[in-house]
Amino acid sequence: MRDLDAFYINREWVAPSAGATEMDVVNPATEEVIGKLSLGTAGDADRAVAAARAAFPSWSQSSREERIALLERVMALYKARLGEIGEAVRVEMGAPVSLCDAVQAPIGLAYMQATVEALRDFEFETSHGRNYVRREPIGVAALVTAWNWPLALIAAKVGAAIAAGCTMVLKPSEISPLDARIFAEIMHEAGTPAGVFNMLYGEGRTVGARLSSHPDVDMVSITGSTRAGVEVAISAAPTVKRVHLELGGKSPLLILDDADIAAAVQGGVASVMMNSGQTCIAPTRMLVPRNHYNEAVTVAAATANALKVGDPADTATKLGPISNRAQYEKVQRMICIGVEEGARLIAGGPGRPEGLDKGFFARPTVFADVSNDMTIAREEVFGPVLVMIPYDNEEDGIAIANDTPYGLAAYVASGDATRARRVAARLRAGSVRINGAQVDFSLPFGGYKASGNGRENGGHGILEYLEVKSVSL
Ligand code: NAD
Repeated sequence: MRDLDAFYINREWVAPSAGATEMDVVNPATEEVIGKLSLGTAGDADRAVAAARAAFPSWSQSSREERIALLERVMALYKARLGEIGEAVRVEMGAPVSLCDAVQAPIGLAYMQATVEALRDFEFETSHGRNYVRREPIGVAALVTAWNWPLALIAAKVGAAIAAGCTMVLKPSEISPLDARIFAEIMHEAGTPAGVFNMLYGEGRTVGARLSSHPDVDMVSITGSTRAGVEVAISAAPTVKRVHLELGGKSPLLILDDADIAAAVQGGVASVMMNSGQTCIAPTRMLVPRNHYNEAVTVAAATANALKVGDPADTATKLGPISNRAQYEKVQRMICIGVEEGARLIAGGPGRPEGLDKGFFARPTVFADVSNDMTIAREEVFGPVLVMIPYDNEEDGIAIANDTPYGLAAYVASGDATRARRVAARLRAGSVRINGAQVDFSLPFGGYKASGNGRENGGHGILEYLEVKSVSL
């Protein structure tokens, strides 16, 4: 049992104030309580903001070299604790050990590395004839994160805020508190000056809302659902602070008729199912040319049915459980809606996979014959659920791909590089990956439309945390 009953404020581990509540930390694979978590109050948020505000005058003047040195110390300590970080993610949100070791744990390092590289030659000042433009840290940043790729989200925000010279208050997701605790310990051990980095636990509607409305917070950056992003934007509005939103998605994989259909379908199914479908950029709508549709459906069903769901501690497991009960129930509800709407179930379906009678395990589910106006094609499920939509020609495919409230990511599969680039240019999404390309952590990451505004990673990520000042001589 882990007692997570302290917040990191002003370089100290402090007790929550009176009025804090307790929440169970639950292992989603076993449904067992593995810890207790204190959820702070608005007063706790105020204490953390006051520490960050007091630290700003000094940290904002730190040199590029000091910031790089701090991030490098953080990375070295992080590297030394990779095993522990991976285990924390496995027990708190159920990601399989193979995914934790290969991606969930080291991904934070990749994000920080990309930030450090961008910081090395980042232009904080540019000349314009006799005049010049300065880029200065915006101030105190509130960082609110989701649980699905917990370290990626924390590292992207904290790294960029440090690089820019901001001070910060991190409110990680209440579903993934263990890794955030380790991260805060690392920030402490790395010698982060008092008040530069603060971390407290709390619910969105209390601590999150207080941070986003706080007059002494200059910027709020949230990664979460579009619902939460809208609430943050509304509560931030009266103080006219900068609002940086990284929200949900319903990303298309547009398979063109000259693609290797089987390879594209297999890759698409694997991407959706990874992390049990709990990835904001998952290609959850697969758009297939009508004349290849039957073949694609057969391959998708076989690929999904071959995935091993089960104990996240087993190295053979591909899918662990859904990370918490509420999300598990939402996934089950959405699968039932798909059935009610008349989509054809070709793999998975409601309930747990055979042989698993406890834990929040869902079945890798694929629906065929989906039309883009069905609920399961429009709303983010955030679970292992893929919909397959046939289309008639390239124009039609592009139109369906763009017919979504979201615009986080899009994917194109094609045998013709020129054609793939032409199609990529027409997709309304913040990132497009062609033929299963790997993620490049130095590229900007963010969404169009209801998927958010602003960008994370590398130089674009640092820019979000800066104000622009013109100086004329
Ligand atoms: P969520 O919206 O429930 O919570 C995200 C965070 O916001 C949590 O820390 C939560 O406490 C906080 N929060 C909730 N309501 C709030 C409010 N009113 N004010 C302030 N803070 C509030 O999301 P989740 O279930 O943790 O994560 C899943 C969602 O996150 C999905 O929609 C997914 O697509 C999205 N996501 C987006 C990205 C991206 O980069 N665009 C990355 C990962 C996850």
